[in-house]
Amino acid sequence: MPQPILVRNQKYFAPNVILPPKIDLLEHYPSPENVHDPLKRPIRDLRISLIDRCNFRCRYCMPKEVFTPAYNYLASDKILSFNQIIRLCKIFIGLGVQKIRLTGGEPLLRKGIEELIDQLAKLSTQSGKALDITLTTNGSLLAKMAKSLKSAGLTRVTVSLDALDNTSFQSITDSHYPVERILEGIHQAQAEGLGPIKINMVVKRGTNEDQIIPMANYFRQRGMILRFIEFMDVGNSNGWNISQVVPSREILATLQTHWVLKPLDAHYVGETAKRWGYVNAEGNLDPLAGEVGFISSITEAFCDDCNRIRLSPDGVLYLCLFASTGYDISEWLQPNPTIGDDLISKYIAHIWQQRLDQYSKTRINALKQHPIEFFQKPKIEMSSIGG
Ligand code: SAM
Ligand code: SF4
Ligand code: SF4
Repeated sequence: MPQPILVRNQKYFAPNVILPPKIDLLEHYPSPENVHDPLKRPIRDLRISLIDRCNFRCRYCMPKEVFTPAYNYLASDKILSFNQIIRLCKIFIGLGVQKIRLTGGEPLLRKGIEELIDQLAKLSTQSGKALDITLTTNGSLLAKMAKSLKSAGLTRVTVSLDALDNTSFQSITDSHYPVERILEGIHQAQAEGLGPIKINMVVKRGTNEDQIIPMANYFRQRGMILRFIEFMDVGNSNGWNISQVVPSREILATLQTHWVLKPLDAHYVGETAKRWGYVNAEGNLDPLAGEVGFISSITEAFCDDCNRIRLSPDGVLYLCLFASTGYDISEWLQPNPTIGDDLISKYIAHIWQQRLDQYSKTRINALKQHPIEFFQKPKIEMSSIGG
């Protein structure tokens, strides 16, 4: 069946943006304590998209036919200021957030990002620990920014890279950036202490399977963490088709033709990647060989422990990467606020307490049973809320 590519130039392709309730209604909401959704999932991980623009046009994310110069990108006066973001972060920390990931679009295109990181680094979690502040980037500007990001207080960095071969890389990203520039950025970040560096590689059938072994070999030799991501049906513009998904088990089998690998324990509840380590000739885990991870949203959903909430650049909250509904709280974040942080916190707790999202768990059934509705369901675009 041909898969329609829906191109709708409206706000983030998300048809439902729920405006905030009247402030006096919030007074009656219960105080947020020990906030969990009905599936017992807490809020731990806040992903902040700083910008909806990017200097790449990866076909699985921002295909150039849709994301043209005429695309309805956010006007700069609609984008949250750093003060507004910091205000929200403090509220989220009060609700249990321990980790903040800056993303985009391409977050390093956001002017003055170091200033935001500097302010974030001064915050601590509810239990008084330092916040884990990470950033996902395409790496194109990392070589020149790694030093200032580290000095500002960034903890770690994740770099997206889908191929080592320059022709493949430029074709996937639809750009003229040389792959060497990304590798230089990765090494600069490593040298500045922004590790352990994670490399995200989206594997798409017929596109870059031939890069699996070269990528694993390269990052294994350098003791870095390479994570394979299954091509996902995020948004409505990337023409996703299940036949283009390379299941993680197939990637693992490919790796096992070259190396012996062993599963590793998760670092924490809700970790998206299943980790594997390389085994050396003596049969032990090789501590210098880095590791691989598999993010298998399509073939092995991880919704059960999902503790992630996402904020778009213009102040809309999304409770799932595949959400069709966003909660717009931007009007509450205007300068000279007329609403207190306690009431915003009550509202966020309230929406989280209704959250039943398990999109990835139900994807295959929905696709089989209602294929037309499946492909027509409006969803937020990846470039608006990050990974
Ligand atoms: N521009 C930055 C970057 O590329 O790292 C941050 C934003 S990007 C949207 C975040 C992550 O989402 C990247 O690792 C990217 O590879 C991944 N991604 C984007 N579209 C995807 C898709 N359709 N399926 C799987 N991963 C995707
Ligand atoms: Fe840009 Fe990242 Fe999307 Fe690629 S994946 S187009 S680098 S936002
Ligand atoms: Fe979380 Fe939605 Fe992804 Fe499931 S599909 S893990 S609920 S973001």
